[in-house]
Amino acid sequence: MIKEKNLIPKLREELHLIPSFVREIIQSFETQKITRSFLNDRDLYACSKVFDEIGLKIFISSVKFSMESDLGKGGYSNAILTTTSENSAEGFYRVHIGANENDLAIAKQMDEEGDDVGLGKMLGIPDCCIQKFMDYQAQAVDIQNDYLLGIQGGQISPWVNVCGQYFEYGLVSYFPCSPYCKYTCEQSENNFNLLSGFSREFAKEFLKYQFADYVYSEYDGIHMIQSGSYVDSQTYRYENAVIESSSRNLLSEMLRKGDNLSIRSPSDFSIYSQKSLISNISSEYVKFFIFDRGITID
Ligand SMILES: [Zn+2]
Repeated sequence: MIKEKNLIPKLREELHLIPSFVREIIQSFETQKITRSFLNDRDLYACSKVFDEIGLKIFISSVKFSMESDLGKGGYSNAILTTTSENSAEGFYRVHIGANENDLAIAKQMDEEGDDVGLGKMLGIPDCCIQKFMDYQAQAVDIQNDYLLGIQGGQISPWVNVCGQYFEYGLVSYFPCSPYCKYTCEQSENNFNLLSGFSREFAKEFLKYQFADYVYSEYDGIHMIQSGSYVDSQTYRYENAVIESSSRNLLSEMLRKGDNLSIRSPSDFSIYSQKSLISNISSEYVKFFIFDRGITID
């Protein structure tokens, strides 16, 4: 039997699972939450052994799925391309993980039937965020099945700031309905406290990604800025040496050449190096999220 204090090292260092998936497994271990994910053969085998030891159940799809590869986003959008045979070595099983077999059977069936509302509730997603997901679905299909552009840009609560997911860190695993969704704030803080109980160091790693600013783009990567601040209501200054990008491309290089942004709106801004203009960015596929400095950790 794995001792609780060894669970996070086991999941991270031995199984090499990404931090946000480790966070979900901890949630399923400690609460009634069901975790839904896609696992390849290797991860499924490794996880099953550990789940057995800690008493978590895993329900596995009868078919495998292949994912559409997205542009510079590390697969977070999870757009399913096709189903393949379970005998294929390639592809991913869709899995539901939790402590209660009845709940898992219901969740698996809802997933198979495409009951997004029912499944969302089983996954612990707040009603307001499920509703937003349903309303935005048709638009998301056009843009790599991603819901992030559906969130209003500009200021956002650091607890709702989900761009960290593209860097494998996120305190929730769904798309929030709004920049200050109070249920998401609550859930995110609860998850932080839950993780802190297991490992203070591991929990703190998440804060770096929650309390950061992001230039999100649908097709040119997501770019995290850790060092920015507003000089006045339109001028945002940053250190270009500490930008992290989900992929390197034209936008990431322009941001790295610059050191301040002149912001007209979250989707319309100019990148400057001191006073010299590098580029104007104006696109419905780009959004700037800056975390609310008024919110701090208690
Ligand atoms: Zn919400």
